Amino acid sequence: MGTYKPFDILFKKGKGVYLYDDKDEKYLDFVSGIAVNSLGHSHPAIVDTIKKQCGDLTHISNLYYNEHQIELSNLLIEESDHAAVFFCNSGTEAVEGAIKVAKKYGKKKNKNKILYFKNAFHGRSLGALSVTSNQKYKESFYPLVSHVQEVNLNDKEDFMKKFDDTVCGVIIEPIQGEGGINPVDDAFLSFIAGETQKKDALLIFDEVQTGIGRTGKFFAYNHYPVVPDVIALAKGLGGGVPIGAFIVNEKANVLTPGDHGCTFGGNPLVTAVGSEVVKIIRNPSFLEQVNKSGEYLLNQLNVLKDKFDSIQKIKGKGLMIGVDVSIDPKMIVKKALDEKLLIINAGGNTIRLVPPLIITKKEIDEFIEKFDRVLTSII
Ligand SMILES: *Cc1c(COP(=O)(O)O)cnc(C)c1O
Repeated sequence: MGTYKPFDILFKKGKGVYLYDDKDEKYLDFVSGIAVNSLGHSHPAIVDTIKKQCGDLTHISNLYYNEHQIELSNLLIEESDHAAVFFCNSGTEAVEGAIKVAKKYGKKKNKNKILYFKNAFHGRSLGALSVTSNQKYKESFYPLVSHVQEVNLNDKEDFMKKFDDTVCGVIIEPIQGEGGINPVDDAFLSFIAGETQKKDALLIFDEVQTGIGRTGKFFAYNHYPVVPDVIALAKGLGGGVPIGAFIVNEKANVLTPGDHGCTFGGNPLVTAVGSEVVKIIRNPSFLEQVNKSGEYLLNQLNVLKDKFDSIQKIKGKGLMIGVDVSIDPKMIVKKALDEKLLIINAGGNTIRLVPPLIITKKEIDEFIEKFDRVLTSII
């Protein structure tokens, strides 16, 4: 439909952190299908699970139980501080569901407003778009969902000014992804968690991009002394199959039969894969390796920062890293293709690095060499 302007590359296969095009040219993938392919491409556990599961059962609807949906629910509850899981197919749907939870939570108290933050990205459906900041994404589609208000990030005063008694929910990405890899201040997260609790609203963390090991902890909220009431998940959860979920604590466990639904949600195929992905990633040694790789990548990027004036700032956690640049990041992304390197921009002037979580030191070295050559070619 022309909603995307894809690069002129046709990929035919992938293995680990590499993709191969129709001329069998090999690319180093630091995009991971936008923070999706956490275990890289054609990971044996995913391949085997898909093969086996599609021979057994792919879809039955939510009229009946399926063992993989139960298994993945239990895994997510074990890893979180929460009580219940709803499965859907995407990040947008997870956010949409989370907003419905907050609306229902506030209903009896006449609270119906959702607060969101500047530069937030939560998806493209009308609800999720209403709490997304970027005007360019919104302007053609007004009127959107009402009773939402934007707050400046890390601005306690602005937050308090807008947090009136009609607020039923506050939605935030602990590290903004699309908006430019912007980590939220620890103190601000604690502050908004305290206020939402005090004023009887729900705190929603959109962990669609930060969740499932991306930041070096299973959930990004594990980095902070804060537990959100609702968490939206997708991207990395399926390692490449389309799955989303939102999870709630007891307080936010307000949806009852008939309130929400999803035909494909949590079908046996995607939940079987999701379970395998979670079982691998939740392993403490796996997460420790993500942290080590992230630190190594940060260190090596800092060496480049000393060499290139065009690098202004390096930020992020685990393997969700942003490099602020003084030249057009889109030009860098394009130039990187000449080096057979896949990277993606975010926000106004950020290069977003979200490689598969299985990346090795040697592959990070290869990235640094390529990135060095890309920046050299642009000066
Ligand atoms: C990608 C993303 C979404 C939207 O997810 P889709 O699967 O594209 O619908 C929502 N929130 C955040 C933080 C994201 O990064």
